[in-house]
Amino acid sequence: MLNTKHSTLSLRSNLLISVSLALLPLLFSAIAGYYFLNTMVISAYQDVAERQRNQIDPTHRLQIAMLQAEVYLEGYLATGKPENLLFYRSKLQEIETGFVGLAERLSSQSELAILANKGHEDWRVVEQTVTDILATNDSHDEASFVEAMSRFDSYQSSAIDKLGTVYNLVEDRLADDYADAALGYERSIWIAGIAAGVSLLLLITGATMFSRTIISSINKLVEGAELFAKGDRDHMIEVHVPRELYRVAEEFNKMIKVIQKSENKLVDQAHRDQLTGLLNRFSFEEVMSESFSRLNRLGERFALIAVDIDHFKKVNDNYGHGAGDSVLEMVAKTMQNSVRNIDKVFRCGGEEFFILLSGADESSTAVTAERIRKNIENGSIAADSYQVRVTVSLGYAVASAADEEYHQNLQKKADAALYRAKEFGRNRVISAE
Ligand code: GH3
Ligand code: MG
Ligand code: MG
Repeated sequence: MLNTKHSTLSLRSNLLISVSLALLPLLFSAIAGYYFLNTMVISAYQDVAERQRNQIDPTHRLQIAMLQAEVYLEGYLATGKPENLLFYRSKLQEIETGFVGLAERLSSQSELAILANKGHEDWRVVEQTVTDILATNDSHDEASFVEAMSRFDSYQSSAIDKLGTVYNLVEDRLADDYADAALGYERSIWIAGIAAGVSLLLLITGATMFSRTIISSINKLVEGAELFAKGDRDHMIEVHVPRELYRVAEEFNKMIKVIQKSENKLVDQAHRDQLTGLLNRFSFEEVMSESFSRLNRLGERFALIAVDIDHFKKVNDNYGHGAGDSVLEMVAKTMQNSVRNIDKVFRCGGEEFFILLSGADESSTAVTAERIRKNIENGSIAADSYQVRVTVSLGYAVASAADEEYHQNLQKKADAALYRAKEFGRNRVISAE
């Protein structure tokens, strides 16, 4: 309700929270993407590069070096040129270093390391065979030479083949690494795509809900303003979100209450007499009409007493108009205090009053009228150094549904009774019956 403090969010906080929530999946995707790129894509590509550099290339270079060694050896054997032998020996050195290096680089993969070692062993046989060939070349033992050459070929091929197998196996692993990298890459793309989709969905949902809330709040404000313009003073605007519009509604509701209060005051003033605060002639007409309609519809009885202050002119003449006013106030107060809350006292002329008694009959009205008369007679009012005392004459009539002319008729009856009370000496109660 209006006086309950709502800790609703402001427009700015609403926007900030919605946007942050919507961007959360993107943040998640950035972190996950970074993780996948780092752990899968980049490390897999690093593996690829490392295998290429440390395993594939050296194996390949080793194979080539072996073939080159053969070429130099054959060159030497064919031409006898000593530089060919020198080249051959340098290749031998290169091959030896190559095998040692390869063994180190393959040490983590035992299967490959074993193969490379076996190649190395084959090559050692090749080396030994070459030593034999060079020896038989000098001794011109043709048969031994041919046999040694064939051993050379066979072991050299075997060493090259083993390195070929190492090469192929490394290449298979390269392919696996590539596949891993591709999978990681694909996953990070999927995650980014899904995150972007979820973010977009959240943004759209958030924006829709947000605008609906605001539009519904604005509609309530407009509706409240329209009802107010049409004269509805009881409608309170119930807007809680966002905080800014809640405040507008709160201020609007406060304004309605202030206006309602001052309107009620004006209405009340229009129905009351300023001097005595009693209901005025305007109210008298209204209340009489209502009372007659209730009498006719529901059979609710009532009676009307007409009251006039006796010799009031003299009060004015003797004590002044101000004292006369004070007397009017005292008489009004006394009459009001002499009847029940449901009864109504009116001032309809200068010093003429009417009292409407709800649910009253002949005898109860007579009792009430007599009580009023006595209370006024016993009261007094201070005017300068004097105590002013007044009396009143009262005439009353009980309403009946047969009163064709309604309150005009009833009022006339009460007035006539009052007139008779004046005639019979004043300070008395006379019934219209
Ligand atoms: P009675 O009713 O007993 O026949 O004599 P009265 O002297 O009261 O005669 P009447 O009712 O005709 O006099 C009404 C007087 O009340 C006339 C006027 O000066 C005075 N009066 C009317 N309204 C006011 C008022 O608001 N203030 C004061 N002080 N006097 C008023
Ligand atoms: Mg009078
Ligand atoms: Mg009078």
